[in-house]
Amino acid sequence: MTHSSGAFPDRLRPERLSGMLAGGGNDPELFEAADAALRASVGDGVYLRGLVEVSSRCGRGCLYCGLRAGNPEAVRYEMSREEVVRAIRGGYGLGLRSFLLQSGELPSKSLLETVTGVLETVREEMPGTRMVLSMGELPPGLLDRLRRAGAHRYLLRMESFDPGLYARFHPEEDGTWEGRLQVLRHLRDTGWQTGTGVLVGLPGQTTESLARDLLAMREADVDMVGMGPLVPCEGTPLWEERDSLPGPDARVLLTLRMTALLRLMVPDLNIAATTALQTLATNGLERALSAGANVVMPNLTPEPYRSGYVIYPGKGTVADSPAELLDELAGRSGAMGRRLVLGDSGDPPHYGSRMRRMPRAGGGLRPGTVGR
Ligand code: SAH
Repeated sequence: MTHSSGAFPDRLRPERLSGMLAGGGNDPELFEAADAALRASVGDGVYLRGLVEVSSRCGRGCLYCGLRAGNPEAVRYEMSREEVVRAIRGGYGLGLRSFLLQSGELPSKSLLETVTGVLETVREEMPGTRMVLSMGELPPGLLDRLRRAGAHRYLLRMESFDPGLYARFHPEEDGTWEGRLQVLRHLRDTGWQTGTGVLVGLPGQTTESLARDLLAMREADVDMVGMGPLVPCEGTPLWEERDSLPGPDARVLLTLRMTALLRLMVPDLNIAATTALQTLATNGLERALSAGANVVMPNLTPEPYRSGYVIYPGKGTVADSPAELLDELAGRSGAMGRRLVLGDSGDPPHYGSRMRRMPRAGGGLRPGTVGR
């Protein structure tokens, strides 16, 4: 197995990817190759994004998500600008230089005011910071405004690049698979550092479908990827189907194989060790790092909001302070022969090479011309 020249991924046809996802390959060898590719192309750094879960309000009905509009048990809140800034300031003081603002999908006037206000404060007070947004599908004009206001990165998981599977878990009235892909392309083509990802272990999802997800993510030319195993959540329609899912260990292993294969296919991406993976496996962080992941997202959301943001169970219960959390992450990364990086926002190398390839005429919003 060679991993240095890029010949390895090109030899991987969909059938072969699917076979490896199904366990037909040699996992230790796969993870080792991914680790070597990671060290050769993005280095041994583990980069941090401080997560702030700004609002749990949501207007959509994704069948797996605890925040879905149809879940009467869900706690609904929206943090204030001051509360978000306080959380970010704390992280900045500890050396974090990138923060992720995440929310359900309901872009109210007040939420947008909060987010643009936070972007403004960060730009004024916290130099060297890259702000990441994950607020769902927003209209192009609004995305452009947020970029001008100082956001650099956007995460929009396709959830599945398989239109049939997507349609099964997303009510039609919320929007289509094509529409979501359109937003992803808009982000990518207007200078955002663009992230996507898929859910792993959906009922009816085959390894063939996951293999196509890998190829589609390479094709989409994104800069960042987060993939997590499905964690069934009470109060969602998918909870009723939980017995028909692959078991938790199988979902974890599938996610790790997806991570390693993607690292080999597109070595210069940033790939997150997701919270969902760490929720299903106690050593999930270590396993993700050793399978090609290089980004961790410590949760900075203050209580009581953190406990109210329940996408799935088990993620909102760690009560460590941010400082303790970073100490723990530094220790665990170090034990893996990896270096936890502070004081650096960790731009994905893929972004730089993509921008150099991007035609000058296209786009409109250029990197380096906005949001500095
Ligand atoms: N509202 C935003 C952010 C969604 S939350 C958006 O629509 O993009 C971030 C991610 O959590 C989702 O993209 C989804 O992939 C993941 N997620 C949702 N429910 C989940 C579950 N039950 N188990 C695991 N991951 C889940």
